[in-house]
Amino acid sequence: MSRSRKPDWLKMRPPSGREFAGIRETLREHDLNTVCEEANCPNLGECWSGRSAGREGGGGTATFMLMGERCSRGCNFCDVETGGMEPLDPDEPANVASAIAEIGLDYVVLTSVDRDDLSDQGAGHFAETIREIKHRHPGILVEVLIPDFQGEEHLIERIVDAGPDVIAHNVETVERLQFPVRDRRAGYEQSLSVLEYADRESDIYTKTSIMLGHGEYDHEVYQTLTDLRERGVDIVTLGQYLQPSRSHLEVQRYDHPDKYETWRRVAEEELDFLYCASGPMVRSSYKAGELFVDAVLR
Ligand code: SF4
Ligand code: SF4
Repeated sequence: MSRSRKPDWLKMRPPSGREFAGIRETLREHDLNTVCEEANCPNLGECWSGRSAGREGGGGTATFMLMGERCSRGCNFCDVETGGMEPLDPDEPANVASAIAEIGLDYVVLTSVDRDDLSDQGAGHFAETIREIKHRHPGILVEVLIPDFQGEEHLIERIVDAGPDVIAHNVETVERLQFPVRDRRAGYEQSLSVLEYADRESDIYTKTSIMLGHGEYDHEVYQTLTDLRERGVDIVTLGQYLQPSRSHLEVQRYDHPDKYETWRRVAEEELDFLYCASGPMVRSSYKAGELFVDAVLR
């Protein structure tokens, strides 16, 4: 499909309802940011309710963004502001843990901006938040979507040691398109190495995400999936890139939902990923709790 017109399958329904309003109020009270809201994520209604697969009551997934709203990097697909880094909030780990209790989440995703400006690139703060959540909510499942930490293994190790259930790091796109899509400090091999290290050093599940629509060819997507599997990655998601503003990269192509279903089958049936969430609206943390529980714990 041409890049000029957004197809019907990408039309979004805004989230609504009492449940949504209550969660948002709790987040405000604790001065917390979620990717769900910051990115105006189209899946918010589904993820926060946790009921899209027919489950009743409680639960749901939300993605908290740690360490501020400004990133030390500037990827050309991402709407987060660059530079002007702020000091870390030492209360953030406790605040996230409190909010989780109030909202009643049973699966939480933590991610962050990149903090190349800090001596440990924020690894210590990330690890402390995982520990605080696990300490206060022993049964909860925690997925972390981490930066590349410039490939420094001792920083990845700090995350591993804090004991999350899933470590995710996004390769974002195929090798040829890493730049212009990502900041020049990121890279294909570096991201594969982060995932490989996490897989090798722990029993923790590893996960990554690929955006489609930047002009990649099918054989490049297939190669990326193969490379990820060879490095031990367990879970993969694929979703459509959407241009956040006119100053970001243009969408090169919209693939039909059937194409995403084909990639899901390739990933799960041919390449043996534990599971693959694939669809135009899928994002890295899309229904992460439900899918993980279905694939791993049932
Ligand atoms: Fe956005 Fe992450 Fe890139 Fe920062 S490193 S600009 S948060 S995608
Ligand atoms: Fe939040 Fe991720 Fe779900 Fe979007 S896909 S609503 S960012 S948990």
